[in-house]
Amino acid sequence: MIYDVLIAGGGPVGLFLACELRLAGLSVLVLEQAKDPSSPLKRLPFGMRGLSAPTIEAFYRRGLLDDVAASKPMKDGSGDRSSSAAHWMHQARRPGGHFAGIQFCHDKIDASKWPYRLPTPAGTTMMVEMESLETILAARAEAMGAEIRRDFGVEGFDQSDDDVTVRAGGETFRGRWLVGCDGGRSIVRKAGGFAFVGTDPEFTGYSAEIELADPEKLRSSRHYTATGMYTYATPGTIAMVDFDGGIFHRTQPITLDHVQAVLRRISGTDVTVTALKLATTWTDRAYQATAYRRGRVLLAGDAAHIHSPLGGQGLNLGLGDAMNLGWKFAATLRGEAPERLLDTYFSERHPVGAQVLDWSRAQVALMRPSQSSRALEAVIRDLIDTRDGATYFAERVWGVSLRYDLGDINPLVGRSAPDFELADGTKLGDFLGTGKGLLLDFDARASLEAVAGRWGDRITYIASDVKDRLGLSALLVRPDGVVAWVGEAEPDFEAAAEAALRWFGTRLLPMS
Ligand SMILES: Cc1cc2nc3c(=O)[nH]c(=O)nc-3n(C[C@H](O)[C@H](O)[C@H](O)COP(=O)(O)OP(=O)(O)OC[C@H]3O[C@@H](n4cnc5c(N)ncnc54)[C@H](O)[C@@H]3O)c2cc1C
Repeated sequence: MIYDVLIAGGGPVGLFLACELRLAGLSVLVLEQAKDPSSPLKRLPFGMRGLSAPTIEAFYRRGLLDDVAASKPMKDGSGDRSSSAAHWMHQARRPGGHFAGIQFCHDKIDASKWPYRLPTPAGTTMMVEMESLETILAARAEAMGAEIRRDFGVEGFDQSDDDVTVRAGGETFRGRWLVGCDGGRSIVRKAGGFAFVGTDPEFTGYSAEIELADPEKLRSSRHYTATGMYTYATPGTIAMVDFDGGIFHRTQPITLDHVQAVLRRISGTDVTVTALKLATTWTDRAYQATAYRRGRVLLAGDAAHIHSPLGGQGLNLGLGDAMNLGWKFAATLRGEAPERLLDTYFSERHPVGAQVLDWSRAQVALMRPSQSSRALEAVIRDLIDTRDGATYFAERVWGVSLRYDLGDINPLVGRSAPDFELADGTKLGDFLGTGKGLLLDFDARASLEAVAGRWGDRITYIASDVKDRLGLSALLVRPDGVVAWVGEAEPDFEAAAEAALRWFGTRLLPMS
């Protein structure tokens, strides 16, 4: 059998991509190296992941949001949702997120700067547990008909002009395309000869669960010290950043004595660690592939870009890759769009990845144990607590500033579509579960209906007034929820056709 798409790696990005491809009816096989997907590192406290607006919107539009929200982890890991009263309740001001640990607060955020964000069930932030998220995505992918083979680590592949043959778990598999979603140390990236460039680490980061003889010696929450940074949460969860040039990471076993030594040095105390229950390390190595496609092989998620977990953006970045790639694959494989549509995956997503890498580097600069970094921290603290500052940081951290350059000056084009409320009370997001594009016509114009008709079932045409038109009268939305074209005053056939041409490419628009 030859699959349309083989996916190496059944992490969140590979699984979500599998869902997107099945939505378009493509045959998909996910090859996952791990026999057992569960791991203590994917569970609380270390498996906690923050989702940003584009990810939450993607889940909402694909009908996954309720399941993800229902799995929302409790801060105490108890699973008792009644105790989930927001963790910020004890604080005078409600935090909206942070930059290198410096919080910005909701009361300073000016949401009027984002006039296109209409009320939506998809919020701007949400916490998930990695293991729960993977379970939900795997269940959805399998229910949609994707095959997932566990204990099938990809060892290598060969590609021809027509297909890719993958070696995994002692067997071979054929696909028309291969996508490497196999994480930061991607075999697909290495075997495929993708160049991976960036900046080397300055530190080793530690996440550990420990027991302490004298916990009172540590101050809770995050602290910058003369030698690094540590965060302590009672009773025994610590994160530390040790500016050792990243040399410890994955080169030596993480022992109790080592963790104690680093903790003592960074905290400036003689605290005693009596038990090391769980520990992992990470670095601020920030690298990105210079191409996301070579022939019939593509990269997505951590396989395409790695950076420190500071500010928690990697998962969101990877899921955004999958949402961007899925419908383009579908249109290309079904022969509805030229292959060059796939090139827009790179041109749209590479700059987003590069921005996230720089965002993480900027935080490293602020965390360095130096006087200049402490001075920089003081400046950021002042700025982040201004209206413009808090709004800027919220935009970046929440992902609401995301916009692809689709060559249109209208500020909405290239952004996530506002969740318009239709006359019957339904929302725009309710119509994106099919993975098709959407032409929303507030004035039920015959000319636009004719355009939609010419696209057949590749597009959903909806004629309805909406609660808040935002000054528009029509809107063309891509399958990934991005606005491809807006009609402001007098939308006409020409404009819509032009937008369609930009959107899918010339072969997709059946000209009469
Ligand atoms: C401590 C920490 C905190 C984080 N917090 C956040 C956060 O709050 N928000 C956020 O957005 N991001 C966060 N991240 C980053 C996020 O976890 C990653 O970016 C995300 O998991 C990437 O998903 P992925 O599917 O691309 O890769 P992975 O999650 O690494 O999954 C890759 C999968 O491929 C499999 N695999 C590997 N090699 C092979 C092979 N040869 N063949 C087949 N399968 C293979 C692996 O077993 C794995 O299942 C954090 C990361 C860390 C370390």
